[in-house]
Amino acid sequence: MIAIIKSTSLLLLLTFWVSVTNAQWYQDKQGIMGTNIQVEVWSDSSTLAEQGMSAVMAEMERINQLMSPYIVTSELAILNQQAGAHPVKVSQELFDLIALSLELSIETKGAFDITFASVGYLFDYRQHVKPSEEQVKALLEAINFRYVVLDAQKQTIYFAHPKVKIDLGGIAKGHAVDNAIAILQDLGFEHALVTAGGDTRLLGDRLGKPWMVGIRDPRDADKQAVVLPLENIGLSTSGDYERYFEQDGVRYHHILSPKSGTSSHEVQSVSILGPRSTLNDALSTAVFVLGVQDGIDLLNRTQGYDGIILDNHRKLHYSKELSP
Ligand code: ADP
Ligand code: MG
Repeated sequence: MIAIIKSTSLLLLLTFWVSVTNAQWYQDKQGIMGTNIQVEVWSDSSTLAEQGMSAVMAEMERINQLMSPYIVTSELAILNQQAGAHPVKVSQELFDLIALSLELSIETKGAFDITFASVGYLFDYRQHVKPSEEQVKALLEAINFRYVVLDAQKQTIYFAHPKVKIDLGGIAKGHAVDNAIAILQDLGFEHALVTAGGDTRLLGDRLGKPWMVGIRDPRDADKQAVVLPLENIGLSTSGDYERYFEQDGVRYHHILSPKSGTSSHEVQSVSILGPRSTLNDALSTAVFVLGVQDGIDLLNRTQGYDGIILDNHRKLHYSKELSP
């Protein structure tokens, strides 16, 4: 009897030992695309875990080199230099992301508009630089997604206004996160987290339990406004605290209303939950611009995507599916 008990407990111990030693969480954090990238994977092989995490970081860097407006050799920068003069041939990937951005402009009634950059490029939040009222007035007409002309056959892009500039800052990180998750899935990972700034996507759960993902208080980096138990989904947050400066009591931040060419002020943060981070990212920016009423309306008619808005009176608003 004692021998049996001994051997069962030995077996139990062994199983426990095997499971704890074989599989574990691996984590990496790096600064890429001007933001914090975080990856977590559950794996029983440190080699595979390292391979997965470095593939994710490499993907982030690849997209940065392709789409950063600050890297003069990026495809996006070249487009901004040349597409006002003649159609420019671009990669399928950039073409598709711009095409999707234009669809989202229509869907969001112009709230999401990558040509915001026609004025937006004159802001330097770090240096507390903003355009003058005259500059905004002169360039405002160049904010109009309809000036971005696509030719799918030739895979070219042309700007039908000489002052148009585009910027994919409201969608590129979500795209990068989706790509990263696809890379991890291809490598066989079943439990993972990828975060790029405000864009997070979760693969599976956290070993039988949901991941607990916090939405920070826009006015206190150490406090969570909401904590959500999540699995197999994406969550993107846009806030007026990411990049901003204050001048004469006004908060100048990085989410611009395409109508005015200045920062939107109706809400402090927007979080979107949905399967695709690319869409979560763009929708969080769009809903931020639309404000509470139009933002919630948009989410209520967008299937599979939901959101939480914290308005400028610090009141929470939920789309239909999330309403408590
Ligand atoms: P982040 O994670 O960088 O805070 P957000 O998802 O909150 O990104 O989007 C903000 C970024 O979106 C800005 O830095 C800018 O590049 C871009 N952006 C700002 N206003 C708009 C707009 N109206 N339409 C599309 N993109 C925008
Ligand atoms: Mg966004």
